[in-house]
Amino acid sequence: MKITLCPKCKKDEISKSGIINGRQRYLCKKCKYYFTVEKEGKSIDPYYVIKALQLHIEGVTYREIERILGVSHVSVMNWVRKYKVKAPENYDYHPTYKVLTHQELMEYMSHVENVKNQGMMITELGDKYMMIKWERFREESGPKHIH
Ligand SMILES: [Zn+2]
Repeated sequence: MKITLCPKCKKDEISKSGIINGRQRYLCKKCKYYFTVEKEGKSIDPYYVIKALQLHIEGVTYREIERILGVSHVSVMNWVRKYKVKAPENYDYHPTYKVLTHQELMEYMSHVENVKNQGMMITELGDKYMMIKWERFREESGPKHIH
């Protein structure tokens, strides 16, 4: 998990300031408070580990998972190896995702055509919701072309 806020003043103007006893030390530039956290990969909330593995199985790439969850793609690769998670091969679908507020999510869900046959998964993401949908590369039911 990336550290983004000072635990004291909750501002996000922090910088790395050396490693003390194996822990990354940070300095808050606002209130000059020093604090340390476990080095990345040691004490990540299982919440993020499970989310990352879910996304991996859904076919989301490591780089995308890094962007979505704010955990490094190296950590994600390590968890995939550690928990022996193998995503099934999939050439027909690719995942797309949207991050929505609760209100946007409700609005979206109220249209049945947005939900039906979409293979969708909704997962909580901080104070918002992420919706993953599968889209087919080829429309099998589309009109046939005559050559
Ligand atoms: Zn501070």
